[in-house]
Amino acid sequence: MLRLADVSKSYGEREGRVVALRGASLEVDAGEMVAVMGTSGSGKSTLLSIAGAMVEADAGEVTVAGVPLEGASARARAQVRRDLVGFVFQDFNLIPALTVLENVALPLDLDGASRASARSEARRALAVVGMRERAKDFPDDLSGGQRQRVAIARAIVGRRRLILADEPTGALDSVTGDRVLGVLRALADEGSAVVLVTHDARHAAWADRIVHLADGAILDAARASRPEQLLTGEAR
Ligand code: ADP
Ligand code: MG
Repeated sequence: MLRLADVSKSYGEREGRVVALRGASLEVDAGEMVAVMGTSGSGKSTLLSIAGAMVEADAGEVTVAGVPLEGASARARAQVRRDLVGFVFQDFNLIPALTVLENVALPLDLDGASRASARSEARRALAVVGMRERAKDFPDDLSGGQRQRVAIARAIVGRRRLILADEPTGALDSVTGDRVLGVLRALADEGSAVVLVTHDARHAAWADRIVHLADGAILDAARASRPEQLLTGEAR
């Protein structure tokens, strides 16, 4: 579902140049949840932004659901972003003046879907995260964990196949964080490809596979941890 091969990206120019990725490679299959771990500044968010067609790589190959992004037109990239990719961030970014249902339907509304189909897809996505009964409430009526589940519903509305989550539980207590991770796990089990960026080994343990990003590159796959090793404390 996602293939990054030898992807490089730097920001700025000359003395101000910062290399964020240097030859990073990663493949994530449909139905697979991969955790990406690494210290702050190691390039995790850049990797997700490139995977989601929000940022263009300087070099390397990026393919989402068989669509190559390198050299693709702005229009083609926007279409991938809109139709295939769902983003979940740490801050929920829900719009306070819209109901839960309206927030979740928004991407489809913006995309020109009919009001009826946008709402029925939004209800379906809310059911996935267990928030369907709160459709008429406003974000301010919800707890942090509930808001994050609504944000996940908005990220998956319209059946996106690649879910990119950048430290989605950072602002949550551990119980609600686990609930959010459970939703991401279920999405993978239902066939989406899920990439979870996290600092927390316990969160990474929900994934099928853990990769480590260091200094802009994914460490050799042979050195990748298995989730159960993290939990039992076995050394890499
Ligand atoms: P992480 O998410 O692992 O903390 P990032 O991908 O955010 O890492 O950042 C990787 C490196 O790129 C860091 O040195 C960061 O300061 C730099 N960087 C990220 N985004 C930008 C940007 N828009 N402009 C300039 N530098 C950036
Ligand atoms: Mg980051």
